[in-house]
Amino acid sequence: MGAFWMPFTNNRDFKASPRLLVSAAGVHYTDIDGNQVLDGTAGLWCVPCGHAQPKIVAAVREMVGKLDFAPTFQMGHPTAFELAEKLMAYTNHKFGHVFYTNSGSEAVDTALKMALAYHRARGEPARTRLIGRERGYHGVGFGGISVGGIAGNRKQYGALLPGVDHLPHTHNLEKNAFTRGEPEYGAHLADELERIVALHDASTIAAVIVEPVAGSTGVLIPPKGYLKRLRELCTKHGILLIFDEVITGFGRMATPFASDYFGVEPDMMTTAKGLTNGTVPMGAVFTKGFVYDAFMDSPAGIELFHGYTYSGHPLACAASLATLEVFEEQRIIEHAKGLQDYWADAVYSLKDLPHVIDLRCIGLIAGIELAPIPGKPGVRAYTAFKKAFADGVLIRVTGDIIALSPPLVFEKQHIDELFGKLAKILKALD
Ligand code: PMP
Repeated sequence: MGAFWMPFTNNRDFKASPRLLVSAAGVHYTDIDGNQVLDGTAGLWCVPCGHAQPKIVAAVREMVGKLDFAPTFQMGHPTAFELAEKLMAYTNHKFGHVFYTNSGSEAVDTALKMALAYHRARGEPARTRLIGRERGYHGVGFGGISVGGIAGNRKQYGALLPGVDHLPHTHNLEKNAFTRGEPEYGAHLADELERIVALHDASTIAAVIVEPVAGSTGVLIPPKGYLKRLRELCTKHGILLIFDEVITGFGRMATPFASDYFGVEPDMMTTAKGLTNGTVPMGAVFTKGFVYDAFMDSPAGIELFHGYTYSGHPLACAASLATLEVFEEQRIIEHAKGLQDYWADAVYSLKDLPHVIDLRCIGLIAGIELAPIPGKPGVRAYTAFKKAFADGVLIRVTGDIIALSPPLVFEKQHIDELFGKLAKILKALD
């Protein structure tokens, strides 16, 4: 038990009271003591179609016996190409190309590198500045933590990427608490990009990266019109707009992507998680055709010298193809659409419970913000997490915010069970 250095975990506390999952099927995990645990978080936001989908399991099994590995440097394998075509169709051909990675973090760092190289290929090498956002989470690569806006993830590492600036976050409890869906107040915060442009000049700025809905910092939903404004300003100043859809992609908003939900199109999109239904690690960067074309058309013949041994791994490609089939055959997104009002009603049923200072909800995502115990930030929500697990439901906490993101194949009775237990736990919290 002692040798595994666990990621994003209170290691000392965990070893005193471990939680071990040994199997999963549908919307449940089974823990090592044989208890069923209702999965209120789709693993780590990554299992939209539910666990152990037979088609995905079979596809991975078949591929491992047929082609366990194949390089994608200077050669390839048919499944990687087939998947790329299917992914383009899945985005309604809003993108022209896809670059495979193994994780969301790698997708983010790939997208940032692409943005820098894109401007260089076009003859604007001075565009090197990257703009992120406070309270943004973009994985743990050096690029991702640099554009990310979580102090705790940055402060231990000293030097980060130079030339990075941040937009302000849009979270505002005074103006927007308990809003259902997109809050009214805050679209003007996108105009902060004008301030940054005025300070540094547009000719030095390569890209802006934001999560359409910030997940890991507690479900921060963009104010009405905010993303559209950001899009307009990026277009005006020749800055690439990157949406990090690692959690919002693949049905989480009851639409294929958040860009569909908000009707705002980025130039690049990072994805992972639901791309393979969480089964085999994989990430992907989607780019508009013009980004790829800038390399192909560059007078100097610049290529993107970048890639991973496991870019387009056969098992990941097989898992992703099967995932897309499951989405279609089981009409997963339509199911999520049918569920989202019931989900929102359940979220807002917690409104008058003790400690609840905000509720946020969009698609099949919810954020429940609790008042912190004075002098002990995060302790109240962490206690709720541990109690919930003991009571057979998996929730996720970040600071004093509970974030929920169930598999999209949840049924109403699962929502009832999740919120019934959560309400009991909140009522009993100190
Ligand atoms: N971007 C966002 C928006 C994420 O939510 C995450 C993971 N939660 C990542 C990037 C990083 O993905 P990974 O953990 O697969 O590297």
